Amino acid sequence: MDHQELKALDSTYVMPTYARFDVDIDHGRGATLYDLAGKEYIDFSSGIGVNSIGAAHPKWVDAVATQAARLGHISNLFYTQPGARLARVLCERAGMADVFFCNSGAEANEGLIKLARKYSFDKYGKGRGTVITLRNSFHGRTMNTLTATGQDVFHNYFFPFPDGFRYAQPTLAGVEEVAGHDVCAVLLELVQGEGGVLPMERGFVHDLAVLCAERDWLLLVDEVQSGIGRTGTLFAFQQYGILPDAVSFAKGIAGGLPMGGFLASEKCRDVLTAGTHGSTFGGNPVCAAAALAVLDVLNEDALAAVKEKGAYLRERIEAMDLPCLGATRGLGLMIGVDVKGERSNKELAAALIEHGLLVLTAGPDLRLLPPLTITREELDKGLAIMAQALK
Ligand SMILES: *Cc1c(COP(=O)(O)O)cnc(C)c1O
Repeated sequence: MDHQELKALDSTYVMPTYARFDVDIDHGRGATLYDLAGKEYIDFSSGIGVNSIGAAHPKWVDAVATQAARLGHISNLFYTQPGARLARVLCERAGMADVFFCNSGAEANEGLIKLARKYSFDKYGKGRGTVITLRNSFHGRTMNTLTATGQDVFHNYFFPFPDGFRYAQPTLAGVEEVAGHDVCAVLLELVQGEGGVLPMERGFVHDLAVLCAERDWLLLVDEVQSGIGRTGTLFAFQQYGILPDAVSFAKGIAGGLPMGGFLASEKCRDVLTAGTHGSTFGGNPVCAAAALAVLDVLNEDALAAVKEKGAYLRERIEAMDLPCLGATRGLGLMIGVDVKGERSNKELAAALIEHGLLVLTAGPDLRLLPPLTITREELDKGLAIMAQALK
């Protein structure tokens, strides 16, 4: 099949919910990918933060193949080793008490919302189910997480939207303004991803944690994009000096296989009991084995390198002084680049992809999420393409 045949097949049978670039990707190694015709691409997108250790990492391939050859699935009615081992690694490295596994980011955030509502119901009874979220946030595509998403453009077509969410500006005064006796939690991203790679202010995050503790609201952190090493620590909250009551993760956890979940603190240990929550595929042994390989690769040295590579990339982009790009921002390898001048971020992304560099957009700007294991050579190749394509 060539590119045109693939494109025709896809557009005939796949629902047109994605504005795809006119490119197919066939295979790759690390941050170097190839299309069907053999053209090379440097990957600064990692499948939207999913391919955390790049394509076809030998440890990941081995873990997935070995587990697939043993047992692909059995259900949560039985114990399996990979899930239990993964749970321990995650809890120990995050400093949390226990974990629930599911399959995607939206589903992980649904779990956070259920956890907060049941925590509050068990303690205070009905009437305290509202979750405060922040303006410009993104929490997913299910009905609840779409409603939780603090961007009006998402609140269309699919009426009726569920109750129980209020939106605040990302300041303490903003949160106080929408507070009330019906609130059980605040849900936020520490670095807003889809909204434009916007890190929260440390002072605000600290004050918010204090406010949540005072009011017995759960502090819920959505680390679906910022988690699993993306910002240079396993979770971004570890750089903010807070311990959330619960934190969701997904994208990067299993290095390309669908997996999500949420970690909870000791305080929430007895909230979600047998029968109150579940998932058919959650903690699937192949995905869990893949995640163990990812966490093995993302050791402390690899995480320190994420910070260095992020700083290098930002410095080099700013030094290029291209007329269409401005300042950079972000944490680790979660980077936003200001777009200025006539061409939109979508046009710049299309030009870069055409020249062989995969990038993302967020809000009005460019977003870079390279594999965390990207090499210096691949970074330099990507930067050279950027200079060439945007000069
Ligand atoms: C991508 C994302 C989600 C949704 O994850 P899915 O796996 O697509 O359901 C939720 N929250 C944040 C912060 C995300 O970046």
